Amino acid sequence: MERENIGNLIVISGPSGVGKGTVCRSLLKKIEVVYSISATTRRKRPGEIQGKDYFYYTREEFEKKINEDAFLEWARVYGNYYGTPIEFVDQILHEGKDCILEIDTQGALQVKEKRPEAIFIFILPPSKEELIRRLTGRGTENEKEINTRIGKLEEELAHLCDYDYKIINDNIEIAAEKIKAIIVAERCRVKKNK
Ligand code: ADP
Ligand code: 5GP
Repeated sequence: MERENIGNLIVISGPSGVGKGTVCRSLLKKIEVVYSISATTRRKRPGEIQGKDYFYYTREEFEKKINEDAFLEWARVYGNYYGTPIEFVDQILHEGKDCILEIDTQGALQVKEKRPEAIFIFILPPSKEELIRRLTGRGTENEKEINTRIGKLEEELAHLCDYDYKIINDNIEIAAEKIKAIIVAERCRVKKNK
């Protein structure tokens, strides 16, 4: 029996500084999954690379893409636009590969509406104090930007109930192993539609 093999769409969210990017980088070394590169209007951080970390757009360019329906989801997060280019995601899924979206809770809710079969994973910090330490220690945002991100913490945490899985990131390798285990289990599902 021939059945089209569509990959799993995996959504990963969590407060800023919790370690989503770090854990995803570790995950990509452990299992074959494709990371969707988002578009954003936020400024490039030192060390970030166009087309590898994000596609960096001006506000005008981003708004043009919104009007062209080029995003699976998009949102304003911490004062900037962020969005998932839909064409790339669908291409990957139709190749039968699993695709990871690292997006905020507003975007995740949009994906849930459009793609209810997606798998939703929320990453939590071991404590609020540790989250602040990580966000400050990263050294990529100024004090005002850090406060904006911390100010969104409770609102972000309130969305935990919309997710299928929660992972506490107290150890990068263990958190990545747990996400790998979820993906492996999801690949073994008899029925995809939850
Ligand atoms: P996010 O993508 O969620 O905003 P990052 O991946 O940039 O977060 O991580 C924020 C900071 O926390 C980075 O400096 C990273 O090295 C550090 N970090 C991530 N995970 C851990 C961990 N388990 N323990 C200690 N530090 C961590
Ligand atoms: P950062 O500026 O730290 O890279 O990301 C800030 C926030 O934007 C994080 O919560 C991250 O998950 C979210 N984000 C990154 N890409 C996207 C995207 O394509 N869509 C949405 N909705 N959020 C995103």
